[in-house]
Amino acid sequence: MAKRDYYEVLGVGKSASDEELKKAYRKLAVKYHPDKNPGDKNAEEHFKELGEAYEALSDSQKRAAYDQMGHDAFDPRRRAQGGGGGFHDPTEIFREVFGNSGGIFEELFSGGGGRRQDPRSPQRGDDLRYDLELSFEEAVRGCEKEINVTRLMSCERCGGTGADGAARKRTCATCGGRGQVVTSRGIFSLAQACPRCAGQGQMIENPCRACEGEGRAERPGKVKLRIPAGVDTGTRLRSTGDGEAGMRGGPSGDLYVVLHVKAHDLFERDGDDLHCEVPVSFVHAALGAEVEVPTMQGKAHIKIPPGTQSGTTFRLKGKGVRNVHGHGVGDLHVRAVVEVPSKLNSAQRAKLEEFALLCDETVNPIGKSFLDRAKGFFR
Ligand SMILES: [Zn+2]
Ligand SMILES: [Zn+2]
Repeated sequence: MAKRDYYEVLGVGKSASDEELKKAYRKLAVKYHPDKNPGDKNAEEHFKELGEAYEALSDSQKRAAYDQMGHDAFDPRRRAQGGGGGFHDPTEIFREVFGNSGGIFEELFSGGGGRRQDPRSPQRGDDLRYDLELSFEEAVRGCEKEINVTRLMSCERCGGTGADGAARKRTCATCGGRGQVVTSRGIFSLAQACPRCAGQGQMIENPCRACEGEGRAERPGKVKLRIPAGVDTGTRLRSTGDGEAGMRGGPSGDLYVVLHVKAHDLFERDGDDLHCEVPVSFVHAALGAEVEVPTMQGKAHIKIPPGTQSGTTFRLKGKGVRNVHGHGVGDLHVRAVVEVPSKLNSAQRAKLEEFALLCDETVNPIGKSFLDRAKGFFR
């Protein structure tokens, strides 16, 4: 079937103005919209034809090509001769034409979905990420921090309006107020936010000198953070509204603070539990003793029973880290590391030799058990 003439499709004359084209398209597109004619193949074809016709004729470059070459202007096989340019999804053309006319048509065709956001509507500011390093103690006990963040904030000079005094606006000449420009890449057409007006369709005639009309300016600022006890590396805190300022009355984004906790000389963290090692002299390990151990709450004492072996762990309940979500407090696990004397004077040496003479295998039951097993292994 031969392709219908675009002017005929829209029911307008060859000299129709942009306004007349739009009007004709609006009237017919509503009539043949697939949401209004579910399952009607003819209406769907018609709707597609309308989108194509309107897209071709509403673009002055494409219209000139069409007037000269007819449908051949958009034939991909002939694009080398100066034609070319594909067509958008007809529903996209529809949205582009009706997008800014209020909610009437959205209600009429509820369930369309995937509506493109109007670049002229209020826009929420971007979220920001800040990486903050904490000492081990700050993370375990909680702290208050003040950080410096340079971000886009509402311009102080113009109060966010982007204008120098009362705003005077004019329609953007580049996009004619549509906020979008269509560029051709081979046979494809690409709709992009207009670079001149940043998709707003309008330009401020008297832009604020401080923010150049954006309404926002990058400014350093301070943010106070209350860091709760029990945070750890990887904990993400959100400071609501401390991200970048919104545009056109939109809300600010949030600031996400990602924590990195430095290692400690004595303690190792495992969730809400802490681990540490304490050296115990071999005499104390043999005889038993009271040993001083460090905790995050200060010094504590533990009783080491006689005959404590290296590696024995003692648990101090509630001396760990307060859970950041309020689920109790962890424990501190103290590992005894028995230290063998490494420097002996002659008197000490003599006493140890004397002691050795008094020992038989019952003094070192672990050693005896090992020797018994080793014997069985070599046999
Ligand atoms: Zn523009
Ligand atoms: Zn400003």
